[in-house]
Amino acid sequence: MQKIQEIIVRNFKSIQKALPSHIELVAVSKNHSVEKIGWLYSEGQRVFGENRVQELVEKEKELPKDIRWQFVGHLQTNKVKYIAPFVDRIQSVDSEKLLIEIDKQALKNGRRIKVLLQIKIAEEENKTGLAPVVAENIYAKYIAGDYCNVEICGLMGIATHTENREKIREEFTFLKNLFDDFSSKKKMKTLSMGMSEDYLLAIECGANSVRIGSVIFGER
Ligand SMILES: *Cc1c(COP(=O)(O)O)cnc(C)c1O
Repeated sequence: MQKIQEIIVRNFKSIQKALPSHIELVAVSKNHSVEKIGWLYSEGQRVFGENRVQELVEKEKELPKDIRWQFVGHLQTNKVKYIAPFVDRIQSVDSEKLLIEIDKQALKNGRRIKVLLQIKIAEEENKTGLAPVVAENIYAKYIAGDYCNVEICGLMGIATHTENREKIREEFTFLKNLFDDFSSKKKMKTLSMGMSEDYLLAIECGANSVRIGSVIFGER
């Protein structure tokens, strides 16, 4: 056990070192125990990502309250209510229907929930996300005063799973351009792109937040 802890802490520290100081690290802890999350917490990490509602709800109960939980997976509208009381940001808004539900649950909980619009940049059919024009329409409504119980603070994207770095670069660059375009209408803070395999490339392409799991915690 001691050994695993040392490895995970070492991985975490080397990622921290590799990241420029303005880049936010979201430690994606899905499928990993509260004990392991606790090790990183002890090292000062506060931002963790999860992709299953039930798992997140259970972990939130057991872990310190100053953790800023990020929801990063496909979220069913009927489950928003379980995380609405505490979630820091829902990074994966992939339909307007979901946004409407988050807005409703935020109001119920007397809070404003931060969200990112997830844009479909990958080619794979199984990867969710909004088409850019749909996101643009949602953002225009938001600027006009709709969805006032959420704060749309940025964009998120997942690149195609491929060895072809140029392809990934094109997808990240596309999202960065969209982010700049949206920001020119109303300032956005967060551009979340890049995972274990491609976070350095994502940063090169303009990401300011990266979601990293397996190179910290090991393969699941
Ligand atoms: C699992 C997951 C990650 C982290 O992936 P790794 O390759 O393990 O770093 C990042 N983003 C999302 C949306 C995920 O589901």
